[in-house]
Amino acid sequence: MVSKKAKNTPSIKLGKPEKVEAWGMNTFSLSPVLRPESEEEIKEIFEWANATGTKIALRGGGCSYGDAATNKEGIVLDLTEFNQILDFNEKTGVMTVQSGARIKDLWELGIENGFWPPVVSGTMMPTLGGALSMNIHGKNNFQVGTIGEHIKEFTFLTAAGKILTCSPKTNSDLFYSAISGFGMLGCFLTVQIKMKKIYSGKMKVDPVYVRNFDELFDYFEANYKTSDYLVGWIDAFASGKSLGRGQIHKATNLKEGEDPEFPGNCLLERQHLPSHLFWVIPKKWMWILMRPFSFSLGMRLVNFAKCIASILVNHKSYYQGHAEYAFLLDYVPNWKYIYKPGSMIQYQVFIPKETAKEAMKELFTICQEKGIVNYLSVFKKHKPDPFLLTHAVDGFSMAMDFPVTKSNKEKLWELCYAMDEIVLKAKGRFYFAKDSTLRKRVMESYFPKANLKKFLSLKKKYDPKGILQTDLYNRVFLQD
Ligand SMILES: Cc1cc2nc3c(=O)[nH]c(=O)nc-3n(C[C@H](O)[C@H](O)[C@H](O)COP(=O)(O)OP(=O)(O)OC[C@H]3O[C@@H](n4cnc5c(N)ncnc54)[C@H](O)[C@@H]3O)c2cc1C
Repeated sequence: MVSKKAKNTPSIKLGKPEKVEAWGMNTFSLSPVLRPESEEEIKEIFEWANATGTKIALRGGGCSYGDAATNKEGIVLDLTEFNQILDFNEKTGVMTVQSGARIKDLWELGIENGFWPPVVSGTMMPTLGGALSMNIHGKNNFQVGTIGEHIKEFTFLTAAGKILTCSPKTNSDLFYSAISGFGMLGCFLTVQIKMKKIYSGKMKVDPVYVRNFDELFDYFEANYKTSDYLVGWIDAFASGKSLGRGQIHKATNLKEGEDPEFPGNCLLERQHLPSHLFWVIPKKWMWILMRPFSFSLGMRLVNFAKCIASILVNHKSYYQGHAEYAFLLDYVPNWKYIYKPGSMIQYQVFIPKETAKEAMKELFTICQEKGIVNYLSVFKKHKPDPFLLTHAVDGFSMAMDFPVTKSNKEKLWELCYAMDEIVLKAKGRFYFAKDSTLRKRVMESYFPKANLKKFLSLKKKYDPKGILQTDLYNRVFLQD
């Protein structure tokens, strides 16, 4: 298909529509996909879209769980081939990359020089553009904030076609709104990020068993000041006095001079995730072995077994490589396939510290009452940040993975709507990177009105023809 060519407008050749899937496999679009490799190509595509009224969804690694990077009514701009590392200052740790470079590229280059990305997600596959658009957080959010707080500068192509340099001081309005702006204002081109200095290839990890929500919250409050990273895994099947039981992993960086193996243990070959389980079973087969447990009773057993294992290793500290600790979810490649032939959604909520515990108890209880219990639950601590559409609060988050099947889908969406009310009552927030079920009314209720108004006016200013959209934007901002 060749586009209508407007006067003086580049013509873009579109191939056949491709299946562009949400990471959780719960939705997809059939869209022509363009894969630019240079700024000039991206600029040309934006010019053409403005001239022809074509709607574009920007897409990075496609790691958003729902429809944040799919586009049923337009084309998809896949930026993963716009991925060069342009500069790395080995003294300061400042790295300049094209926005399609992945977190994997950053840490693999940085670590042998004693630098680690300041903020990473549970997978290393997101691109910097995708990570900034959602303003991702890590297990260290309570210490260092979101990724946006470590960006020195970026160049940005607004949807209207203008390239601007943004930093906290230059074009600061756009700096604080493009980061968190979920790809709706324009496209990140080059990004300058300050990496974090490390003095060992390993961190000290303390595994801690907690018997319920009270112990979970108490531990986080008592330990966050002395931790670099904290993450909790919760057994969502436990009830009564055990509601909220699980395991916390507290990690601390080693200080300068503390590790005699440094810098040898920063070599890439000592950081890569092992390819085999127990040196025998290839990790790529693990999802097949896990699949027989992928039903409610099976997952109840798996969660219970993990609890027993947590009790056995309680407070038995060990040293673990950065990649192994950070990217636990990459440990089992394609683990999401355990949900096939169905799919999955993640429901992640961010709740202020004053109301979080009670609200989370209510969330887990309602899941059990409705008979749809989440298979995996992850708990983190957060702090507020200065970005316009931030998801973070001074409080805690819970990420809950649910299986989606033909028979449970309607009931699951109803459950999410009921959970939305609990979260709204607790003055909590949601996260576009994980979302599949949010509705406009709920979004309008939790975003501060002033932020929303400002975002909508910036959308008009930087994207006057409305060329940038995604299925998520259409669902949450346009549909009533
Ligand atoms: C297993 C797993 C674990 C995860 N763990 C975490 C976690 O711990 N913390 C966390 O915060 N998130 C986490 N995530 C979510 C993930 O970090 C975000 O969804 C992130 O945005 C994905 O980046 P991506 O490159 O894949 O972007 P995509 O998912 O492809 O797109 C995300 C958004 O970015 C926009 N976009 C993409 N590229 C650009 C660009 N160059 N310029 C402007 N906009 C662009 C898209 O339009 C879309 O709105 C996890 C995801 C998975 C699958």
